[in-house]
Amino acid sequence: MIYLDNAATTKVCPEAAEAVLYAMTEAFGNPSSLHGLGIEAEKLINFSKEKIASAIGGIPSEIIFTSGATESNNLAIFGLAENYGRRKKKIVTTAVEHPSVLEAMKKLASDGYELTVVEPDSNGEITEDALVGAVDGSTCLISAMLVNNETGYILPVSRAFSRIKKLYPDCMTHCDCVQGFMKLPLSAKALCADAISLSGHKIYAPKGVGALWVKKGVRVAPILRGGGQQNGLRSGTEAVPLIYGFGKAVEALSKTVGTRFEHAEEIRDYAVNRISEIDGAVINSKENASPYILSIALPGIKSETVLHYLEQSGIYVSSGSACSRGKKSSVLAAFRFPAKIADSTVRISTSFETEKEDIDALVRGLRLANETLVRTK
Ligand code: PMP
Repeated sequence: MIYLDNAATTKVCPEAAEAVLYAMTEAFGNPSSLHGLGIEAEKLINFSKEKIASAIGGIPSEIIFTSGATESNNLAIFGLAENYGRRKKKIVTTAVEHPSVLEAMKKLASDGYELTVVEPDSNGEITEDALVGAVDGSTCLISAMLVNNETGYILPVSRAFSRIKKLYPDCMTHCDCVQGFMKLPLSAKALCADAISLSGHKIYAPKGVGALWVKKGVRVAPILRGGGQQNGLRSGTEAVPLIYGFGKAVEALSKTVGTRFEHAEEIRDYAVNRISEIDGAVINSKENASPYILSIALPGIKSETVLHYLEQSGIYVSSGSACSRGKKSSVLAAFRFPAKIADSTVRISTSFETEKEDIDALVRGLRLANETLVRTK
């Protein structure tokens, strides 16, 4: 198997898998219980808070565990709007966000907020000026992602947020960092963010766990109410095994962010060179994109057809993104991909385990696909 769909999800690493098993079978207490087993479970949560917070330069009390980045994004958007949007009714996001941001923002718009969606310019770029220009003194919240999950495009979030914070200190800044976390250098302070969403399953932890980092002093209102766990910000018994696995995955990765980044760049550059040799193949990703994601197209051959063709040789890739499940991607259209390219786009997303031989196999598969598959007009 050659797995090139790591932006969709990753294989759980041994450190995380062992941690999950330990928390399920030995330290299985309820972290709210007052006895020793409960205290042991609480320690595992605190371990993960510490690892995740320090990976982005934060402190443990700033971490709220969630079921994944979809929940983190919803919590940030609804939770910040509720506390900071009483008088300021403007909200801002971009057209290339994950649906868990865009849909939450649209819900706020249907509840009376005034939503501005920043579109990429004619070059498919979201500029710092466009983000800053969309905010004014009545804006309570801006949410912009760090790395786009379909193309790897890196948005100029830290430069834009730092200008926004200087101009409008009361405007809350939220960043979906799912595709950047543990991949690109990431510092909450440098990002000038008030809240940051993270997901476990994109970084070799299990599915079903994520985190929202909330800057000390910033108040999010809960969206889940109940037993008051996590300081009342996210009720529900904590998913200790998943949370501990998340912390262990972060610990395992934290010393190698730089070397893995260099490896990803080498693999991406190799893939770009080799795929460019295929007759008619198009490289969609821009040069400053995350090296972990490469968007390409064989124009005229549908993405799904290529995906299933490659699958026959054990090579796994995505069309646009795994979330869109065959639906036309509004994100690729927003990035100004012509319809013919968007329909043929394939996303290749690598991990530290991806080697040049894997890319060679991919290129062989793409070449054969290009030569044998039927093209639409
Ligand atoms: N944001 C981005 C950028 C993503 O790529 C994803 C996962 N596709 C999410 C949010 C949602 O994360 P989760 O699957 O943990 O809910």
